[in-house]
Amino acid sequence: MSENIPKTMKALVKSRPEPGLWMEEVPTPEIGINDVLIRVHRASICGTDLHILKWDAWASKTISVPMVVGHEFVGEVAKVGSNVSDFFPGQLVGAEGHVVCGRCRNCLAGRRHLCAHSKGLGVHRPGSYAEYISVPMSNVWVHHANIDPEVACIFDPFGNAVHTALAFPVLGEDVLITGAGPIGLMAAAVVRHAGARFVVQTDVNPGRLELARKMGVTMAVNPRETNLKDVQKELGMKEGFDVGLEMSGNGSALRDMLANMSHGGRIALLGIPAEEFVIDWNTVIFNMLTLKGIYGREMYETWYKMTVMLQSGLDIKPVITHRFSFTQYQDAFDAMLSGQAGKVIMDWTA
Ligand code: NAD
Ligand code: ZN
Repeated sequence: MSENIPKTMKALVKSRPEPGLWMEEVPTPEIGINDVLIRVHRASICGTDLHILKWDAWASKTISVPMVVGHEFVGEVAKVGSNVSDFFPGQLVGAEGHVVCGRCRNCLAGRRHLCAHSKGLGVHRPGSYAEYISVPMSNVWVHHANIDPEVACIFDPFGNAVHTALAFPVLGEDVLITGAGPIGLMAAAVVRHAGARFVVQTDVNPGRLELARKMGVTMAVNPRETNLKDVQKELGMKEGFDVGLEMSGNGSALRDMLANMSHGGRIALLGIPAEEFVIDWNTVIFNMLTLKGIYGREMYETWYKMTVMLQSGLDIKPVITHRFSFTQYQDAFDAMLSGQAGKVIMDWTA
């Protein structure tokens, strides 16, 4: 390691198989010849990190301890492996959080987001709640000039939003988004930017509906108080929503969506259900609906689209509601756990 890179660093670690995350002094990651060492500037909290914090059934069967957690971040190239010729110390970078195998059928065909063996940063290999992270050079994204570093920090979830929101054409279409968590909120801004006519967003949390209004949706609706059929009537819609983006993981949200789609409507599903649930397949079949599952981001078309939409005026910054130093990580996680936050960012330099 070069002299100015310390041998140890601070990191938030899942060090024991029980609820909690612990700030520890751990060895700075080694890099292989094809890797890039990144000095983390900022890292944001994802719902996945809350599952790991709480040590639920998914986390306990997925994570081997000890594990440095976190995968949403922005930083600066600190050092590159001897085989790396196109990244340089000082560049502002992020990283695609899925490390793909490179050898399966989809990888070989250039469809890396469909890799059957992808490994997650902060899940299967050490993540970004740390002063340094090592990633393969094929996972590095160099941010274009003039991308706000705070927005750069949330490119990972922003990418989930863009991947889902652009799964089907939305120009002139009426779009229903169920769930106004950080990803649903960004998706609302994206479909607006991409030329949707009406954007209706639902959530059961009034604070999040308020954020949806800030993102510029046509109507922000609590499905416990207002029926989507009435919303359609109020907007003068006659045949249902053309495109649905399911971003809550909630069964009744999807059932509501299915009942309010136009014939031939298209639904992209990002929300991860906590358990199996029943839907009315007759509606899917007789109304000829298309349902498409979405995972992660396309490498690297989604990253490109995020960049150019920001450069052409898309504003997702209102989704960032809290900022902390990494030393205040408890407060940062409490803000996320409150359910009132949008994106919560920790500064790993201060
Ligand atoms: P989040 O949990 O912050 O947001 C989900 C929102 O859905 C919450 O605001 C909640 O109040 C709302 N909701 C709950 N019940 C509802 C209902 N009946 N109708 C409408 N809204 C309802 O999550 P997020 O970070 O914004 O992520 C959105 C979803 O995407 C989550 O399910 C997350 O696990 C999932 N996700 C998937 C991928 C992927 O690659 N597929 C990646 C990241 C996140
Ligand atoms: Zn693969």
